[in-house]
Amino acid sequence: MALEEKREKRPPVTPMMIEEEAALRNGSRGLPPGPWAEAAGPRPRTTERHIAVHKRLVLGFAVSILALLAVTMIAVLLSVRFEECGAAADGPPRAGGNGSLSGVARQPPGAGQPLGRPEEEARGGEAAEEEEEEEEEEWQRRRELPPWARPRLPRHLRPLHYNLMLSAFMENFTFSGEVNVQLEVRNASRYIVLHAHRMHIEAVRVAEDKLAGGVRVARTFFYPQTQVFVVVLNRSLEVQRSYNLKIIYNALIENELLGFFRSSYVLHGERRFLGVTQFSPTHARKAFPCFDEPIYKATFKISIRHQATYLSLSNMPVETSVFEEDGWVTDHFSQTPLMSTYYLAWAVCNFTYRETVTKSGVVVRLYARPDAIRRGSGDYALNITRRLIEFYEDYFKVPYSLPKLDLLAVPKHPYAAMENWGLSVFVEQRILLDPSISSILYLLDVTMVIVHELCHQWFGDLVTPVWWEDVWLKEGFAHYFEFIGTDYLYPGWNMEKQRFLTDVLHEVMLLDGLASSHPVSQEVQQASDIDRVFDWIAYKKGAALIRMLASFMGHSVFQMGLQDYLTIHKYGNAARNDLWNTLSKALKRVGKSVNIQEVMDQWTLQMGYPVITILGNETTDNIIVISQERFVYDSDTKPKDPARGDSSYLWQIPLTIAVGNTSHISSEAIIWVSNKSEHHRIPALEEASWLLGNINQTGYFRVNYDIRNWKLLINQLTRNHEVISVSNRAGLIDDAFNLARAGYLPQNIPLEIMRYLSEEKDFLPWHAASRALYPLDKLLDRTENYNIFNEYILRQVASMYLKLGWPTNNLNKSLVQASYQHEELRREVIMLACSFGNKHCHQQAATLISDWISSNRNRIPLNVRDIVYCTGVSLMDEDVWEFIWMKFHSTTAVSEKKILLEALTCSDDRNLLNRLLNLSLNSEVVLDQDAIDVIIHVARNPHGRDLAWKFFREKWKILNARYGEALFMNSKLVSGVTEFLNTEGELRELKNFIKSYEGGAAVSFSRAVETVEANVRWQRLYKEELFQWLRKSLTQ
Ligand SMILES: [Zn+2]
Repeated sequence: MALEEKREKRPPVTPMMIEEEAALRNGSRGLPPGPWAEAAGPRPRTTERHIAVHKRLVLGFAVSILALLAVTMIAVLLSVRFEECGAAADGPPRAGGNGSLSGVARQPPGAGQPLGRPEEEARGGEAAEEEEEEEEEEWQRRRELPPWARPRLPRHLRPLHYNLMLSAFMENFTFSGEVNVQLEVRNASRYIVLHAHRMHIEAVRVAEDKLAGGVRVARTFFYPQTQVFVVVLNRSLEVQRSYNLKIIYNALIENELLGFFRSSYVLHGERRFLGVTQFSPTHARKAFPCFDEPIYKATFKISIRHQATYLSLSNMPVETSVFEEDGWVTDHFSQTPLMSTYYLAWAVCNFTYRETVTKSGVVVRLYARPDAIRRGSGDYALNITRRLIEFYEDYFKVPYSLPKLDLLAVPKHPYAAMENWGLSVFVEQRILLDPSISSILYLLDVTMVIVHELCHQWFGDLVTPVWWEDVWLKEGFAHYFEFIGTDYLYPGWNMEKQRFLTDVLHEVMLLDGLASSHPVSQEVQQASDIDRVFDWIAYKKGAALIRMLASFMGHSVFQMGLQDYLTIHKYGNAARNDLWNTLSKALKRVGKSVNIQEVMDQWTLQMGYPVITILGNETTDNIIVISQERFVYDSDTKPKDPARGDSSYLWQIPLTIAVGNTSHISSEAIIWVSNKSEHHRIPALEEASWLLGNINQTGYFRVNYDIRNWKLLINQLTRNHEVISVSNRAGLIDDAFNLARAGYLPQNIPLEIMRYLSEEKDFLPWHAASRALYPLDKLLDRTENYNIFNEYILRQVASMYLKLGWPTNNLNKSLVQASYQHEELRREVIMLACSFGNKHCHQQAATLISDWISSNRNRIPLNVRDIVYCTGVSLMDEDVWEFIWMKFHSTTAVSEKKILLEALTCSDDRNLLNRLLNLSLNSEVVLDQDAIDVIIHVARNPHGRDLAWKFFREKWKILNARYGEALFMNSKLVSGVTEFLNTEGELRELKNFIKSYEGGAAVSFSRAVETVEANVRWQRLYKEELFQWLRKSLTQ
């Protein structure tokens, strides 16, 4: 699953939705009329729920009286023996055969007390309730939670195979299903507990073997707290027998982007709908009753009945299609291999496709809306997918497991993409690409999302983490392989050696350097915790730890270990210890002995990371002192776990170290550092030699040195920077800026390092500098003396800006692989020059914008459009803002729309910024997922920071209601709006605000407070020191 673009999950109630739901209740094709049709609308919104409940009470009362009369008459006329009461006797039997097929209660709307159907209340509903209470008391006496109330499913049953038959009614967005689950009994029990949520269950039957007949169902009920459905039987299921559980149910094709949901697009002026699934992590239970935990792998045989104007897709290819006379068709899909529920998938749409076949015969298709397919917007993705399957098959030495892989481009999706096995789903912006209007950055985004999801076909789908606490086992690997796989496609780009550092390592160390961080393996108890584990720590720290591991093992041994791991655990589940064991064995085979579990447990179970300090010992020759401590930005903050101070954090650190002098660097040596402080002998340490730790920044830690060594390194960079590798140059910059920000290093060191950049021709160190400068710039951009800082940066950038110049219009050129580094460097330098106010840069941007306005032809080079738009809006008058606003409305290209919208936030006109903020919440104007970016970008603008902060507080209720469930969105918003607040007053406002609102986003807010406290502390302690040095430096 790729997170970058996690989209809204809870759209606001709009009149249209109410209409749709009202339409649902007016009976519909495939659903019997009457009370059932009403029941087909689970979870009506508040007002309707009241009406529905009221209706039901009246109806229930009437039916009760009728039923009472009927029962009395029957009892008088016949002598009836009531064998059983309760749900088993309720409702008309639906199908023939053995066993009791029972009509059962509907899912309660929302949560709380189950509302039975009226006739149920008449017949023994009370008895069932009493029975339930007695049972609960019995469990209480035993001091145990009943099996349905436990956070995890009870272990006594295991699903072996599911037969799932669905009918999708696209005209009213409902579907009905019949699932047959073959169950294996491990411990005798009277209960079947499985997940089911937001559905109406119509009938349940349990049959023993296929021939031996039925087992009576005593009663059934939903237990919404744990999202389970419970079938209570009259007798225990016996061990080592196999049973069949049959459930007939109905539900909505949701408007929220979870479970089986719908979305739409417009083709030739006509709105077309599609239905697609998103089950990860816990939404399969909204589409069919199932054992919805990754450990319950089973085989699935799916059939989908739909109107013939649509086509249906699922994980496996269609085996047969059966056409009916009335224009309906049923597609029967082949049986899947063993798999978990969360990456099962299906779709009903009227897309078209293009196809390719891999060397090993896997059929790859890209499905998208017909106009996109016709334009060829999917061709790039299709082409690299074929090559990537071949790459992974070769790298892992495990063939792709299914006969086909479909990539489905949908207009709306809660994530950037989801790796469903054989049917991966992507939001259009992350898979469709039109080379004539796409920047390199956009191409890179599309490429990496595809590489990520394809890696999951092995890491995640074929071998699945046992439980969500180790979600990083799949997400960390997929994120790491984004870089390895992109290097395969574009060997010159050096993604794993270079861009990994800035985009993953440096990025996540910012987050993980907060005392309020958390370990990469997180305990997960409640279902509601599961969403929380999909965060940057799992993805980026996971990837960084895997890279460190690969590096100290050696890449070829690491690759062998992964091949073994996938081969041993394929079609099964694995926990982190399984990985550690396999990798340890691989190391042993090449004669190395490292206890990988012992090492990695410290990195995965402890939060944060160490800063290593290397001190040259001046009294004893060639002896250095290496110490470690936990790195934190704000050393005043109390550790999250007060029982365990920061001082108790220790890691086993694979520190690589090299010695250099003016023209030479030694080969690296590895030192395992495991104590607080250690002495080591370093040979060949001369007077003028410097030490460099963490060679190529493969380790997940920072390195600090004594000032003398820092000065020697700076000197080396200035005289001949190429002695130090590109990765280490970027690493030194990032470490120095962050060590200074946290107070481990004087403020001038990072600024002194920057001076060598005028000679730096590689992209990565510039990119690292630009990223590291950004938070510093935000700390200073509203201070009186900002211009001193600004002036200093401009001086460092000026000569390289002059050397590189501007790109020419490359509209007609294809994306040239070789020029990637150069183009990215030029872009970075132009961005720095324009944002710090280089006059030539400003003029150039203004000229390009004026040309666009006067000629109405956009000749701005693709790779710098965002910079030019933003600069134009900030410098030029309101007409330019209006022009960009108009273009934002008229363009249809998704990548272009996004940068136009962001440019609007660059204005320094506070009225325009306010207008934009207010418009951002209008879903007709700004897509829900983009509104967050508008608010965050206004907060980055020094002229808009307080406006965005005020707007955020005023609209918090609306924002929280809109994004609350999508935790990732909410935390992005909270951190985006607050991360650059840095005055005492703003800190007070933040704390007061948190006090006054109720619930939600608690983790994000505690992170926000810590960040702002660190900002305020930096202002208090270090700001003046920095300005003093800058003043002195500028007059020299
Ligand atoms: Zn993923």
